[in-house]
Amino acid sequence: MGADLPVLEVDLGTGVRAAFTTRVGGVSVGGYAQLNLGLEVGDDPRRVRANRDAVARWLGAPVAFAHQVHGAGVRIVSRLPAAPHVVVGEGDALVTRSTRLGVGVLVADCVPILLADVASGVVAAVHAGRRGLVAGVVLRAVDEMVAEGARLPQIAAVVGPAICGACYEVPAAMQAEVGSVVRETTSVTSWGTPALDLAAGAAAQLRDRGVRHVSRVNVCTREDDRFYSHRRAGTTHGATGRFAGVIRLLEPPATA
Ligand SMILES: [Zn+2]
Repeated sequence: MGADLPVLEVDLGTGVRAAFTTRVGGVSVGGYAQLNLGLEVGDDPRRVRANRDAVARWLGAPVAFAHQVHGAGVRIVSRLPAAPHVVVGEGDALVTRSTRLGVGVLVADCVPILLADVASGVVAAVHAGRRGLVAGVVLRAVDEMVAEGARLPQIAAVVGPAICGACYEVPAAMQAEVGSVVRETTSVTSWGTPALDLAAGAAAQLRDRGVRHVSRVNVCTREDDRFYSHRRAGTTHGATGRFAGVIRLLEPPATA
């Protein structure tokens, strides 16, 4: 374990390290096995801390997480929470200019988004579920990056593993409500009922806000059991963990 932690690494430019973790490489057991990073899902907190330490070793710095509330709150993070706090506060997006810490979001079907403007030295992690997407958390995170010095044409974004538009069944009224805010979310399940494609909606919002470099991992958490899935767990045992999208600015190389 450590630097060789099996994660899904993504390229957001030289000078930044970013990845989506998987279930593999941690010490949690049962429905939480193995690399559960969520402290609020009923897992043994000592195991979760050991798992978070493994991710910190991979990233080369500890990771700041917020208490996520499915809102549009964005927090600017410049230091880790002082003990005994484990979160930097309430919010669904974290933005930092610091090279001494990473920022992360926890998910299990919701959409994790990682953003970086390496030239300006600003990175962000966003948690966008159905409610957050409608509330505008993706748009607000981009705005806050710009307020911190990022330039829109330089921002690169990757939309991570999430429940796909062929799996995320919702009532027709909910589909209509979300679709009226983010048209691109409207989808149909593989069995022909109303659905939402949150990742498509997040990608559309990023492009609408002026982010030119948007890529998608295109992995469905419900179908791919390398990842935790709230919906998949609901039909089996119930308990499940959270994986994370994490990102960190690296120290610029020393100039001679
Ligand atoms: Zn799917």
